[in-house]
Amino acid sequence: MRVTIVPIGRPDAASLRMLAEDLAEAGFNAATADREEAPARAYDPARRQYRADAVLDALRRHGGACVLGVTDFDLYLDGLNFVFGLAAGHGRVALISLARLGANADPGTARARALKEAVHELGHTIGLDHCDDARCVMYFSNCLVDTDHKTGRFCASCLARARHLALQPGAKTP
Ligand SMILES: [Zn+2]
Ligand SMILES: [Zn+2]
Repeated sequence: MRVTIVPIGRPDAASLRMLAEDLAEAGFNAATADREEAPARAYDPARRQYRADAVLDALRRHGGACVLGVTDFDLYLDGLNFVFGLAAGHGRVALISLARLGANADPGTARARALKEAVHELGHTIGLDHCDDARCVMYFSNCLVDTDHKTGRFCASCLARARHLALQPGAKTP
């Protein structure tokens, strides 16, 4: 599956490079586009966070099979204190934030967290839902303990479902 990584804001260059490498190793055909600013209307000055859905929407103007926004800003959605990422289900756009991934972590752990969150959101764009298997990358992370516990890979049933979805008419080629 082709993925265009779009840096939003000032994400760390080394983290972006490692994420692109790790996605390639995970089987994604990843290329990195030019950095861009987050849409001003997405910013909530009272919360000092960006609305994840507004940032995600702004990614839709990019062409390409699938677009993964990567930002250093903290993201939120109505009703949630923060989100690690967001994606359009059966869509083309996904978004992750690196803001919280470095907490209590050595560089290797932060790197692994970024890959897991990216693969998770890309899984949603394929059409996968959350998975009950706590080791599966599609498990919903409430906190970084969940993220650290899960692997960066799809469980057997999610992988089978991903392959099935990819064969549907109009599906993106994996
Ligand atoms: Zn999810
Ligand atoms: Zn699964």
